[in-house]
Amino acid sequence: QAKEDGRNRLRLYDSGLHQCLLREATLETALRRALTNDELRLVYQPQFDASTPERLVGAEALLRWQDPENGPISPGQFIPVAEKSDLITELGWRVQELLCKDLQRWLAAGFAPPVISFNVSPKTFREGQFAARLHEVMTRYHISPGQLQVEFTEGTLTDRSDIVFQEIQALQKAGVDLAIDDFGTGYSSLENLKRLPLAELKIDKTFVDGLGNNEHDEAIARASLAMAQAFGLRTVAEGVETPSQLAWLQAHGCDRIQGFLLARPLEAEDFQAMLHNPDTAA
Ligand code: C2E
Ligand code: MG
Ligand code: MG
Ligand code: MG
Repeated sequence: QAKEDGRNRLRLYDSGLHQCLLREATLETALRRALTNDELRLVYQPQFDASTPERLVGAEALLRWQDPENGPISPGQFIPVAEKSDLITELGWRVQELLCKDLQRWLAAGFAPPVISFNVSPKTFREGQFAARLHEVMTRYHISPGQLQVEFTEGTLTDRSDIVFQEIQALQKAGVDLAIDDFGTGYSSLENLKRLPLAELKIDKTFVDGLGNNEHDEAIARASLAMAQAFGLRTVAEGVETPSQLAWLQAHGCDRIQGFLLARPLEAEDFQAMLHNPDTAA
């Protein structure tokens, strides 16, 4: 028996799993330090009107982390690690703060920013403090609720749905728009979607990738667009990289386009340069 255990333990320590846990622990420590040392910022990816793609109609705020030793670390790497600890909640509060601060700066300088979307992880939503915190931060920075939109994924709806629905209703009552993100990658029932006061549906990049060459992806995109139209939701396609994807989305009535074809996520000052300033406009 002891021999068996010893062998198993050896195997565990040899395995990639151990390396992976070690890496996660290191990343978690570094992320805690990042929050204290202000190593996090937001970038803004512009969204354009599908039928007139030179028209800026919105943006998504995306978190960036510049680690002094390891350089930039992508949210695809650190968000999942943060999700496993209490850090994701701290990150969530920081994002609210950073976003309202940037908006306040643009508004004070006379710019007219479009509605900015930001991402909220399921865990943060389930804490039940999200809407109240957001209200507090918006008030402190004099940001009106109509300036913001919250993106959440279908996974948000699978657990503790009572609290999640309360939060969603509180946000809607406050006048903050709601978008369902990465649509088609999770399991949300149509019944659930119908009950939610959603403003927008975002078609995930995995399906956008196949537009123009993959019938299966096209079928999902077509069904998503039809459903959104039936529910009266605005539609945004994310991850649009090619002119043929854009053409497909235009032909199928998608409202808005977000992707590297039109713009990458921009530093706050570069995004500001795209904004209209009524005071200085000729
Ligand atoms: P998401 O919310 O679906 O965000 C869209 C992601 O697709 C972003 O990656 C964006 O840079 C990328 N993207 C947009 N257009 C293109 C394109 O044409 N080609 C390619 N290859 N990629 C494109 P990013 O910034 O790395 O974020 C990844 C994910 O991390 C986000 O997916 C979101 O789930 C999460 N995330 C980012 N910022 C936050 C945040 O502030 N809070 C939370 N909770 N999650 C965040
Ligand atoms: Mg998003
Ligand atoms: Mg998305
Ligand atoms: Mg996505």
